[in-house]
Amino acid sequence: MSLKLDGKKLSLKIEQRLNDYISINKKTAKRAPGLAVIRIGEDPASGVYVNNKEKACSRVGIKSFIFHLKDDAEQKEVEQLIKKLNFDKNIDGMLLQLPIPKKFDEQRLISYINPSKDVDGLNEINIGKLVKNESAMRSCTPAGIINLLRSHNITIEGKKIVVIGRSLLVGKPLSLMLLNLNGTVTMTHSKTLNLNKVCREADILIAAAGKPNLVDSSFVKEGAVIIDVGIHRLKSSDKNQTRLCGDVLLEEVISKVSAYTPVPGGVGPMTVTMLLVNTIFSWQKQFSLSSTLNDLLPKTPR
Ligand code: NAP
Repeated sequence: MSLKLDGKKLSLKIEQRLNDYISINKKTAKRAPGLAVIRIGEDPASGVYVNNKEKACSRVGIKSFIFHLKDDAEQKEVEQLIKKLNFDKNIDGMLLQLPIPKKFDEQRLISYINPSKDVDGLNEINIGKLVKNESAMRSCTPAGIINLLRSHNITIEGKKIVVIGRSLLVGKPLSLMLLNLNGTVTMTHSKTLNLNKVCREADILIAAAGKPNLVDSSFVKEGAVIIDVGIHRLKSSDKNQTRLCGDVLLEEVISKVSAYTPVPGGVGPMTVTMLLVNTIFSWQKQFSLSSTLNDLLPKTPR
């Protein structure tokens, strides 16, 4: 029988630890950790994600500050807000909820975020440090996946790992983190030839293509571990209903794999949890607090 890698369960366990950590250390710091979330425009999915982040913060005792700007805001206005938050002593972490309206220069805005508050790990300084395998803020979805593998004692070192997708948000940082942990990593994309053949080599296959049900059993080696990052809301046969699915056609591959992540309840909850972890790490550094949460970070030494 294949093992379900239950991200929901693990995230609740980690949240309990975070809650305890904040309760113990709040006296020394004299304030709770603070996370600022900047949302621009009315994208409904972003609204849901921001709400989820706000709720997760309150569960563990992080104070959240939501800045919701209208889509007629100017680039300069957002840059100024980021600069102000960079100096705000009550803010340990900051993120720009993506996607933002096309008229904004997203990369420029992210580059304004102080790297030590960049809890999404997307600022070029943090990406550069990841490339150099130096310690820095790591992006949340990849860090969550590594935690999920580790907590189920799935070895990364020496394994053949294929990542489908090369985005800055998921595929690239994830591939680098796995490489830093001594995995043998192949990064694939929409122009990869014979994708299913390449994927069949993998001991660990990670699907982050954003294409519903792309990965069928022809992609999967017997006994492989499969991680599904994709999340899609599809109309079900009853037209009034919708259902969530991932990039993996789970019902077809489940009998072949040794372990898998469900959608929902796999990678998604771990992403939010790592955002909390990153915020607390920034707070920990600011006040030189005890480092009892270090096992939650993707380790850096080669
Ligand atoms: P993205 O920016 O659209 O990148 C998708 C990547 O997949 C690109 O590199 C693309 O290749 C590649 N790709 C697309 N179609 C492909 C195909 N048929 N075969 C092989 N590669 C293909 O998406 P993203 O931001 O990385 O997100 C990927 C998925 O993960 C989405 O469903 C997103 O909603 C989900 N996601 C989930 C979480 C979570 O917490 N669960 C977090 C982030 C993202 P090219 O570079 O050649 O275009």
